[in-house]
Amino acid sequence: MHSPAALRSPPFMSDIDLVLRERFGLPSFHPWQREAIHELLEGRQRVLVIAPTGGGKSLCYQLPAAVLDGTSIVISPLIALMGDQVRALTQRGISATYLASTLDPEEVKRRERGIFEGRYQLVYIAPERLESQWLVDKLAALRPPLLAIDEAHCISQWGHDFRPSYLRLGEVIERMQPPRVIACTATATPIVRQEIQERLGLGADRSAVILRGFSRPNLHLAVVESDSSTERRRLTRGALRSALGGPDSPQGGAIVYAATRRNTEKLADVLDKEGWRVAAYHAGLPAAVREKVNRRFADRSLDVVVATNAFGMGIDRADIRTVVHAQAPGSVEAYYQEVGRAGRDGQPAHGLLLTSSGDLGLRRRLIGFSGGRDPGSTPDSEHVRQQWGLFLDLMRYVEAGSCRHDFILRYFGDERETLGGCGHCDVCERLEERGEEGALREASEDEALVVRKALAGVARNQGRAGLTAVSDMLHGTNNERLRRLGLTDLSTHGLLEAHPKAWVLALLRRLITAGLVDLTTGEFPIPYLTALGVATMKDEEAVRVLVPAPDAGRAPRAKKERHRAERELPDNVDPSLFESLRAMRLDLARAKGVPAYVVCHDRTLAEIAAYKPTSMEALSDIHGMGPARIERYGEPFLATVSAHAS
Ligand code: ADP
Ligand code: ZN
Repeated sequence: MHSPAALRSPPFMSDIDLVLRERFGLPSFHPWQREAIHELLEGRQRVLVIAPTGGGKSLCYQLPAAVLDGTSIVISPLIALMGDQVRALTQRGISATYLASTLDPEEVKRRERGIFEGRYQLVYIAPERLESQWLVDKLAALRPPLLAIDEAHCISQWGHDFRPSYLRLGEVIERMQPPRVIACTATATPIVRQEIQERLGLGADRSAVILRGFSRPNLHLAVVESDSSTERRRLTRGALRSALGGPDSPQGGAIVYAATRRNTEKLADVLDKEGWRVAAYHAGLPAAVREKVNRRFADRSLDVVVATNAFGMGIDRADIRTVVHAQAPGSVEAYYQEVGRAGRDGQPAHGLLLTSSGDLGLRRRLIGFSGGRDPGSTPDSEHVRQQWGLFLDLMRYVEAGSCRHDFILRYFGDERETLGGCGHCDVCERLEERGEEGALREASEDEALVVRKALAGVARNQGRAGLTAVSDMLHGTNNERLRRLGLTDLSTHGLLEAHPKAWVLALLRRLITAGLVDLTTGEFPIPYLTALGVATMKDEEAVRVLVPAPDAGRAPRAKKERHRAERELPDNVDPSLFESLRAMRLDLARAKGVPAYVVCHDRTLAEIAAYKPTSMEALSDIHGMGPARIERYGEPFLATVSAHAS
């Protein structure tokens, strides 16, 4: 069964609307589908499509396969779905087949003969099959006009679905030299995307990246940070009531995510006592129990499921009105996937993320436990580092001073769908309140001015220095390093001297997450203004950023801890004092019979050697100096500093 010759020779784009209607029975393309198909057929011919599951990615290779001459090849790990897809295509008059190890050898041979005779327009192949060089060579001889790679994130060793056989795809592309390559995935973290591009040779300069469909305008997003568990419970109960109504006649369903199995059970108990039809769900429950929970939630005999992240795949319910996270999940991506289960019916829905300072330690432990990919393997430190980085990104989301929707879309690289302030997240609401209430207006103008001053500082920096130095410059620090960099001579030096140093740095970070400032890539990242940053500085755009709370970067120990991993060493460390402190630490460690790092970390010594505290109080501002350390080691540290001064 071949399509009419007229459809199979260029120019293709004039035909695709007809093919869409007549072959696929669909009235119109999603705009991004047309863009992807255009790039593939008549544009750069190398395309990476990132769109949510069910978004309609498969059309982006099925339709081109239907109009191109020759046999297009699709690599997919989802063997279970291949049969259905092939059947559907065949019904539409598009000749297709698949090869997978689930077929008996006779059948494989029969299909292969047909394929090599060029009888099919589209062939699905399981990645394991490509381990046969013979098969790869035979397919290459067909000169396929298009190679599609579905579930492309399986190539990423950092992804959840890593498949070693996907690593061969780079070689396969080399061998086949297909004129067109399209990779599709629903996983959009920047790191996974980069790995796909590298391994498939879809470098950003030569290929089109189409990332769309992540925006969820009916979803209201909010975050509350609270260290009181009573408060967090109260907020959870409140969220359920306001989203569903009371437990007597609830409208729709809800999911509450917790980080540990024990927490799911405890919380389910609490909600049960309140009269909700609720069940816990986690991987420690027998399969039969889990199935039952899934079924009862789907048929609406349960209103609420309290679950770990194990709950997700099989959820078949469009009327979920709220997703509450009782604890922070592991990444922005995980969060968006989980909260995205709310409001699939397009009706208003809410996502509430609750987080406390305890989440940091908890996540550390969870990452440590999962270690390598296999349970029981030794923790892979690079893996742990990656996971921690993803969690810190989520913490930036928590602290975001700009629209939460825009933050997420920017994080995924879905710039085109950003809204410039959505009006239905907690940050946008706070920004609007400030704009409207007369009493607060003055304060808000002050804040806008502060943001514009900070932007001016970044502009004046003109590629000289990194983020810390720019923040020191704005704060008005005057030291050798800043003088050397020429930062003390700038008109913006000291422009924000009314604010603590740590606060200015926190503000600059917010400007980054808000998309006003970006960092150059490379060994020494330098901040610069984005186009939006320039427009905001010039007052052509409104300031849509909340400035940090007055105590940002100070006090609460959890906050300090949070920034530890990303904090840079102070740049005015006195090297000889640092060496004296290290020698003293070694003495203390020997005297107590403990390793040196138990006394304190290098970072603590570096900060002491930079800020030279002269009192116990000043010492308590140093990173890592809690009350216990001060009591034990405060005296000798201060003595070393003062001996060094004299
Ligand atoms: P994905 O591969 O992104 O997970 P699919 O390609 O399987 O998603 O598509 C999911 C559903 O969306 C299919 O039922 C498909 O027919 C439908 N679909 C795809 N494109 C369109 C469109 N332009 N208009 C309407 N429905 C579409
Ligand atoms: Zn918003």
